[in-house]
Order: sequence, then C-alpha cells, then structure tokens
Amino acid sequence: MRREDILGKIATTGNDFVVDIGGGHRPFPRSNLVIEKYPFDHSLHRDRPMQFPTIPVIKADALTLPIPDGGCDLIFASHIIEHLPDPAGFLQEIKRCSKRVYLEFPTRKRELMFAWSYHQWMIETEGPVLKFYRNDLPQMFGDFFHVEYDAALGAWSEARHEHLNTSLYGLAEELVCEFPEMSASERVLSDSPRGNSRFNFATDITRPKYTLWECAAIAAQSILPPTVYAAAARRKEPVTFPADIPSSVLARLMCLHCRGISLKRSGEQIECSCGARYTRDRGVFDFDVPNHNTLTA
Ligand SMILES: [Zn+2]
Repeated sequence: MRREDILGKIATTGNDFVVDIGGGHRPFPRSNLVIEKYPFDHSLHRDRPMQFPTIPVIKADALTLPIPDGGCDLIFASHIIEHLPDPAGFLQEIKRCSKRVYLEFPTRKRELMFAWSYHQWMIETEGPVLKFYRNDLPQMFGDFFHVEYDAALGAWSEARHEHLNTSLYGLAEELVCEFPEMSASERVLSDSPRGNSRFNFATDITRPKYTLWECAAIAAQSILPPTVYAAAARRKEPVTFPADIPSSVLARLMCLHCRGISLKRSGEQIECSCGARYTRDRGVFDFDVPNHNTLTA
C-alpha cells in the first residue's frame, strides 16, 4: 500500500486543529501548524535546502509543546519518534495535547536495510503497544541505502511503503510504550531463522505497479550520472520561508512560561501577558525551551 492511500484514511473535519510534529519539508498536507525542533537543519535530508510548505512553522521541542491540554484534534508525527531519546515522554505529551494521533516510523526491515546510526530505537508494535529496542544495529552497508537508494529508488520504496514503515492511527490515550531489556540486535538475532524450516525468501515479495513516470524516473536515474539528478533536485527545492501564523492558529497556542493562552502578535514577536516573548527567525517563531528562557522580559 502506498503512503497516500494510508494517509487518505485519516479522517479530519474542516474544524479540526491538526499539528504536524517534525514534518519539516514534507508535512501532512492537512496540517494547520508544523512544529520543528530543527527547522533549518537539513543534514538528515541529504543536505538539500529545506523546502518549507505553505503551512506555518514554529520551533519547539517535542516534549514541551506550546499547546494547551486537549488543544488539538490530531497530532501527526511521521519518522520522529525513532529519533527521540525519550519517546515515552513524547507519547505522554501527545496524550496531553491531542485526542487522536498518527505515528509513522520504520519497520524492522527498513531499519536493517538502511541502518540509520542516528535512530535511537528500532520499534515494533503489538496492537497499540510500541516496543522500543535500543538501536545498536550494525551499519553493514554504511549509508549506502540512505544516500544512493533513497535518491535512485524513491518510487520503489513508495510502492512498498507498508513493508518499510509502520503506521499507527487512532486514539492517543490507547498507545502504550514498552522498553524491553534486549537491544535491537539481540531482538533481531532472537528471531533468526537458523534452526527453523527453510527460510522462504519468496513470502515477502510483492509486485507493485509503477506508473509510466515512475518507470521513466527509475530508468533515467539508473543510467544518468548522480550529479545530473542531484542538480535537478536542488533546482526543485529553493529555500523558502514558511507561511505566517494566522490569528486562528495563534489562538490555539500556549505560553510555555505561564501556560496561559492569551498570546498576542506584536510585529516580529509573539507576546504573552506574563511578559514572555517569542521571537522570529527566518519566518519561524521560537518556542524552544532553552531559547525562550532567555527571552523573558
Ligand atoms: Zn505567559
């Protein structure tokens, strides 16, 4: 199943306040607000300039969201939770802020293939239970898959989205975190097929249908030197500033100092009646904890 089909099942109404956490250059299109910890760091996106969407972006930490209790209808967090040192704290923060949640993260298969060293966890699920295995998987292929495979075979992995990514969508309060003692490597080895009947490599092979455009894109990238499509990708992605925060979104935000919800816009700042001020850098208001502490009036 493709990602767009999975996202198509997320039900939202026009009044829903939807917040994307960490969506960066590719947020959930229905989002009213994107919250990014590192809005200008694109080192994990193959050093491409960040393409901001036409959705307002603020800078904040995932564990201290400037959103009042029950303040949003849906939190969308795609490929974030595996990066966080404290995923249980993040889940708690999601439950505080939102009724519903969409979580997406790599499956074990994808963690093994890409072996991203900067992922803190390999995550497996059992119903609403998320099991976090400390990531100690060896990078047997270096960053080959991340650098080369993502660039050349985007269409390949799009068509296999469900094999490569876990998607959880539902009530936030139902989700449970578990931290098994074994590490990711120990977990993988515990499931080794050695000793079982023969490992059937055919069971997991699917034959997705590619569009003509995807076939052409794969064919072109397989024969062209990488510099050609890297240049094409750069041309497509100019640095842009995100959309300004409309008053309807500002009214949904909470001051991180006094937890009040009477934030006012004053030129290049957002101000609270308690005296706290949140400044703006390249179109992004800064609600990140270590920074806003220094901004107290
Ligand atoms: Zn305040």
